[in-house]
Amino acid sequence: ATAYNAAVAAARPLNCFIVETPDLALEQARAADEALAAGTAGPLAGVPLGIKDLFCTQGVQTTAASKILDGFIPPYESTVSANLKRDGAVMLGKLNLDQFAMGSSNETSAFGNVINPWRGPNGAQLVPGGSSGGSSSAVAARIVAGATGTDTGGSIRQPAAFTGIAGIKPTYGRCSRWGIIAFASSLDQAGPMARDVRDCAILLQSMCGFDPKDSTSLDTPVPDFEAALTGDLRGLRIGIPAEYRMDGMPAEIDALWRHGAAWLKDAGAEIVDISLPHTRHALPTYYIVAPAEASSNLARYDGVRYGLRVAPDQASLIDMYEETRAAGFGREVKRRIMIGTYVLSAGFYDAYYIKAQKVRALIARDFENAWSRCDAILTPTTPSAAFPFGAKSDDPIAMYLNDVFTVPASLAGLPAMSVPAGLDASGLPLGLHLIGRPLDEATVLNAGY
Ligand code: GLN
Repeated sequence: ATAYNAAVAAARPLNCFIVETPDLALEQARAADEALAAGTAGPLAGVPLGIKDLFCTQGVQTTAASKILDGFIPPYESTVSANLKRDGAVMLGKLNLDQFAMGSSNETSAFGNVINPWRGPNGAQLVPGGSSGGSSSAVAARIVAGATGTDTGGSIRQPAAFTGIAGIKPTYGRCSRWGIIAFASSLDQAGPMARDVRDCAILLQSMCGFDPKDSTSLDTPVPDFEAALTGDLRGLRIGIPAEYRMDGMPAEIDALWRHGAAWLKDAGAEIVDISLPHTRHALPTYYIVAPAEASSNLARYDGVRYGLRVAPDQASLIDMYEETRAAGFGREVKRRIMIGTYVLSAGFYDAYYIKAQKVRALIARDFENAWSRCDAILTPTTPSAAFPFGAKSDDPIAMYLNDVFTVPASLAGLPAMSVPAGLDASGLPLGLHLIGRPLDEATVLNAGY
């Protein structure tokens, strides 16, 4: 109880948790103690974790950081959080995030900004990245040993980079999406965020695996991820994609990238130049596909089935829908619903949505072609270090540009990881990004390690 109180007290000034779960944590910690004493403990017995509040947790309020789910208490547990629980983990609470995981700075949460434990020049408060900003901040501040994140276009990797921690988005289908509140179903993937690569490997082992309750879950063996961490990269070819060297890329990001290649070379890898020609189309493609799917997924919040209902006297059904959705969704969520509805509408479907699907296939093919020349790909995770609050929140395009290096792997469903790799000129953490072949998390983890 003392440890719990100390942890949540440290988390409050950073606004990491939306829901604190002291009773449940104590119950799980006691169960872990008993299992340890009886010799029946799982691999995560007693390990304190935070769960991003996009994962449904049985009997515990789940918000997706939106007012529209006000009062929603799921009667079921997401498969990923159930797997962690099965292995003995202790949940300290539900972590803050961008509303419905839409954002790159955690500024779209209905429960307020999460603050990055790292400070900028003159002590300025910085964003922790998003959407898994509660997760990144809580891990970076050593409040939890690890956390779950979800990554649709970068939401594990970008906040990991902004807070100096590690995070991996596994192959699409590795972790079950069952019980995770849907954003863009063809892209959403859960993964771990932790201090280092080894902790990520251990957590991923527990989180992933086939689940018949998710139709896109992959029924394929899961290797021993921790055993893959040899640090020996002899025989491995690491690709450096020319198209990621973008105009106006800060010199320090470029320098970090070169250092990363040199480290991998020192560990025995061969560095090869590769080309991913459709890279520059990835961001616009993502910002068509993801809102399209979101507009469909978020149609279920109608004031009837979940949480909030705003029904003025004498309201018609349509009035009730409108009032509920107007009051329940935040600005960014509404923007995505409008973009998504627009690109799916009869007059624009072919020009935007179908076109984006075709470009998505080309982006995936770029990677397929690249695998004949390399076994993993190294890029920066983000174009900059963490930025101050408000710096990009009025300019959606500037905000979306944060995802320029992370969305291609999401569109192709590939495993990708951010590892802490250095500091910028003002002493803020920067990440390097490794992308792997489908189902080859082991190589990504070992290269990151
Ligand atoms: N920042 C991206 C977006 O806003 C990615 C979010 C995510 O991966 N959940 O859509």
